Amino acid sequence: MLNVGNTSGVQVRKQQQNARVTLSMYQEPPNVEVTLEEFESYSIDRLQMLKTLELVRLRGRDDAKVEKAMAKFLPLRTAEDREKDEISHFILRMAFCHSEELRRWFLTQESSLFKHRLDQASRDEKMNFMKKNRLVYDQVDTEEFAELKQQLTAVHLANKTSVKEALNMPDVYVKVPFTEAIDLIGQRKVFLKCGVAYVPFDHLVTILFARFRSTLSKQLAIAFRKFNGSAAARDDRLLPVLKNLAKHHIGPDYGTVPQASGNAITPEMIDGLAATAMPLCMKTLHNAMKTQSHLKHGGRMQYGLFLKGIGLQMDDAITFWRNVFCKKMNVDEFNKKYAYNIRHNYGKEGKRKDYTPFNCVKIITGDPPKAGEYHGCPFRHFDEHHLRASLRGINEIDKESIITLARNKDYQLACRRHFEALFPKGNIDAVGNHPNAFFEEARKAIGVKPDPVKQEPVKQEQVKQEPVKTEVKTES
Ligand code: SF4
Repeated sequence: MLNVGNTSGVQVRKQQQNARVTLSMYQEPPNVEVTLEEFESYSIDRLQMLKTLELVRLRGRDDAKVEKAMAKFLPLRTAEDREKDEISHFILRMAFCHSEELRRWFLTQESSLFKHRLDQASRDEKMNFMKKNRLVYDQVDTEEFAELKQQLTAVHLANKTSVKEALNMPDVYVKVPFTEAIDLIGQRKVFLKCGVAYVPFDHLVTILFARFRSTLSKQLAIAFRKFNGSAAARDDRLLPVLKNLAKHHIGPDYGTVPQASGNAITPEMIDGLAATAMPLCMKTLHNAMKTQSHLKHGGRMQYGLFLKGIGLQMDDAITFWRNVFCKKMNVDEFNKKYAYNIRHNYGKEGKRKDYTPFNCVKIITGDPPKAGEYHGCPFRHFDEHHLRASLRGINEIDKESIITLARNKDYQLACRRHFEALFPKGNIDAVGNHPNAFFEEARKAIGVKPDPVKQEPVKQEQVKQEPVKTEVKTES
């Protein structure tokens, strides 16, 4: 019986000499010493790499840009490069394990990085990776292949669109338990028999990617549980660096209400702003609120925190909500049922936490709206007919491209395309991650000077460099 990922002897030694080990499952943190300066610069380089991948994902595939960033921030040419890759991964794992949102962001970008490397890897590199991580699958031998040739060929042909592709029959198949090949089975890309999926070697990428993602997801949960007991949590030099890294992952969080100024947002301005500068999610909530003089809890949270983020002061927020809601209820009822929640959002009640506006990932992946609810992301949660109607005023070509992106589940890209259609001269690069960023850029495009809620660029925190050595022993 042949085993893929389990070749041995001379062949393995040859493979190990020839193949660059560019893929890692990051199972064990490296036990090496790095200076504080390296600790910081390695992690910032990886963060730059992950942010590039995020941007590329939003703008559409651009392998050349990813390669350029890879060569600049995370090359894998030498043993030192590979060590840096491992160290920086574990540092960011420590920085990004502390909340669901941070974990989700890190998992998404690290998975993209792994996928990119996997796509670039040679067959030897993939085999080496599988062997190293004990991902051993039986290879279909000649006898079995002959027995199943008809079925394997039928599945192969059903998935090919050109004669050239159809003639290119895979030369290696591996047998994978069906539980690990659910995606491929769903797409009818593999032959299934007695609980075993017969996977062409090239499709193993899907299996390895799924394995990487689920392993990292579990490891992030473990890192979160163990962090408080780790040496890093007690180290005064590392803690500020880790906190700073996590803060920069998705730009500003719009959590601080700008001080009232000549530019401040007032309740009277909100109708106009909804019509001209808000993203579709907030415009939908605003319109629903105006027509129904009410919004349910999910909508009040999403819209209320957004308004806080654009600079509506707490007292003005109470006035705004009261003016709308009191068309259907009296002031006492409003004060009893709703004013507390508004003060709570501004950190003046309960735990006195300064809540931040929801970003796009949170809105898109949060609970979908039920009947009578209007929160969520229209590109994710509206059906096509409803979305089309919401895009009234956009020309047909733009509308079709927005709807196609939403249909393909590229919700944030659809929103960027919507921004582009509304504000052709706006700065599209800043849009797609946060409703408040959409709003800020829309106002700039209209020609209104923004209030000073600025994103700090990713830069090295000015931590005093000391000639000490720090041992990186991260908890996985
Ligand atoms: S992508 Fe973000 S900003 Fe755009 S509509 Fe959806 S949630 Fe709102």
